[in-house]
Amino acid sequence: MSGPAAVPRFGLVEAGGTKFVLGVTSGLDQPIVTEQIATTTPDQTIAAMLDWLGQHGPFAAIGLASFGPAELDPASPHWGHILATPKPGWAQTDLAGPLAARFGCPVGFDTDVNAAALAEWRWGAGQGQRAMAYLTIGTGIGGGAVIDGQVLRGLSHPEMGHMRIALHPDDAGFAGTCPFHGPCLEGLASGPAIIARFGCPLTDLPPDHPGHDLIAGYLAQAAINLQALFEPGRIALGGGVMQTPGLLARVVAQAGALGGGYLRGQAETVLCAPGFGTRSGLYGALALAQGALAANAG
Ligand code: ZN
Repeated sequence: MSGPAAVPRFGLVEAGGTKFVLGVTSGLDQPIVTEQIATTTPDQTIAAMLDWLGQHGPFAAIGLASFGPAELDPASPHWGHILATPKPGWAQTDLAGPLAARFGCPVGFDTDVNAAALAEWRWGAGQGQRAMAYLTIGTGIGGGAVIDGQVLRGLSHPEMGHMRIALHPDDAGFAGTCPFHGPCLEGLASGPAIIARFGCPLTDLPPDHPGHDLIAGYLAQAAINLQALFEPGRIALGGGVMQTPGLLARVVAQAGALGGGYLRGQAETVLCAPGFGTRSGLYGALALAQGALAANAG
C-alpha cells in the first residue's frame, strides 16, 4: 500500500551576527514556519538551532545561509565553517557539520548575501535579469552577485562591504568603523558607522538632516562601482539601514548623477528593494537547500 508521494521538507537557517532566523517549509509556494534565536556563543546558538529544527524534521535537505567570512570550498576540510570573523568566539566555528551530523541530509551552504542574491535572481527582484547583485546594509555591509545563474565567487566569496569609497568633504574627520580598513563602505555606511557619527540610527534623524544624503551618497558610490564592474540588471538594497524611509530614493538620485549617463543601467531601474523584503536570506536558504537536494540526487 502506497500513500501520496512524500513532500520534501526543507530546513532553513539564516545565520546572522545578532540573530539566527530558522525556518521550515515544503517549498517556495508554501508557508515558512519560522523562529528566531539570539546569536550568543557558538555552543549555545548551535544547540538552540539543532533543538528547534529537531522538532520539525526529518528534512530532505537543509539550506544554511551564513554571515561571513565563511569557507565555501567543498574541497576544504573547513567547508561550512565561519572563518576569521571579528565576532568574539565565532572564528573557525563549524556551522554546517553539526546540521549534517544531526539530520543526516544534504546541507547547502553559502554566505547570507550570496544566498539572498540567488533567491532574488531566481524568484525576486532579479527575475529575468542576466546578472544581479544584492547588498545588505545593516550591522555590517555585505554583498553577493549572481551571473547567469551562478553565484559569483573567486578565491572566496566577494567582500563588497569592504570596497574603498571616496570620502565626502563633510565627513573628512571621520575615521570609519571598520576594524580592518577604517573608512571602507562598511566603515562609512553601516549601522554602527551611522551611530558613531550621529549617536542614533538614520531612522531617528529628522528627514532634513544631512546625514541621510551623506549615507545615500556612499551607497550610491557602491552601486556605481558594481555597475562599472559587471552592469547588473538589478541591485537590490536590503538590510536594516535601508528600512529608513526615503533612503532608497536618495541613493537612486545620487547614483543617477554619479553615473554620468555612461552606464547602460539606469539608476532608477537598476536600484531596487529586495523582492522578498527582509526575507531574502531565508528564501536564499531555501534556494541552497533545493540546490543541495538536486546535487545529491544528480
Ligand atoms: Zn572594511
